[in-house]
Amino acid sequence: MGKILAITNQKGGVGKTTTAVNLAASLAAMKRKVLLVDLDPQGNATMGSGIDKRACKQTVYHLLLGLAEVGDVILQTPSKHDILPANRELAGAEVELVDEENREVRLKRALAKVAERYDFILIDCPPALNLLTLNGLVAADAVMIPMQCEYYALEGLSDLVQTVKRLRQHLNPKLEIEGLLRTMYDPRSTLALQVANQLQQHFGDKVYRTVVPRNIRLAEAPSYGVPALEFDKTSKGAQAYLQLAGELLRNQEKQAAQA
Ligand code: ATP
Ligand code: MG
Repeated sequence: MGKILAITNQKGGVGKTTTAVNLAASLAAMKRKVLLVDLDPQGNATMGSGIDKRACKQTVYHLLLGLAEVGDVILQTPSKHDILPANRELAGAEVELVDEENREVRLKRALAKVAERYDFILIDCPPALNLLTLNGLVAADAVMIPMQCEYYALEGLSDLVQTVKRLRQHLNPKLEIEGLLRTMYDPRSTLALQVANQLQQHFGDKVYRTVVPRNIRLAEAPSYGVPALEFDKTSKGAQAYLQLAGELLRNQEKQAAQA
């Protein structure tokens, strides 16, 4: 059974999609079978994986509304992971599902049918705690939280931690925090250092050792529809996500040994 990770933070522009695409590519490069789920109507993870979102006839939208089977929506990307693509149509899902029963378990049910085929399923959530994100959090085994080390980051984080706790009480008792990922990190910034320290005090070893630096290659790669690994393998950004993939695999081995 694949491990299902929701990459989430209700704050916008913190590196969720960059993490989803580059981690998917890195795990695939390490011979793991990966499905990336684009749960954002912006469709950035879809485009960043080299799939034209406008050309997708079947998307996560059709999946959530029960208009398509999961196997028919999955596409192969040039970067060797699979994807459930999304485009702006997905923005309508929330309204259209409003009267439907079990509307927050739609994704979970769809993924259950294919989870056996994958080592990892990574879900790129939109920047909101809405019904789409809720579907991601209900489907997931754990959340990965990318964040920028700035003052307001900690405030948003406590809301997210509360949400995870509430989900555990009702909709998803097994939901864990896999880890917090420092993104766009600038070690010359005193504030970044202070926030990183506070993070470690609060969350201890839940903070990944891997730090993703601010790196222009990570920002450039999506416009070519490729992950940084393919665009410039030697860049600090590509290397950081390879390191993160390694850390994730080691954590899994540790967890398996303890179980
Ligand atoms: P949204 O909340 O809108 O979905 P997001 O959290 O998915 O945003 P990204 O789209 O991954 O964030 O990143 C926001 C912007 O920052 C993008 O232009 C991206 O290319 C850039 N970016 C992300 N990570 C880095 C990095 N480590 N170094 C430099 N630029 C980065
Ligand atoms: Mg995004």
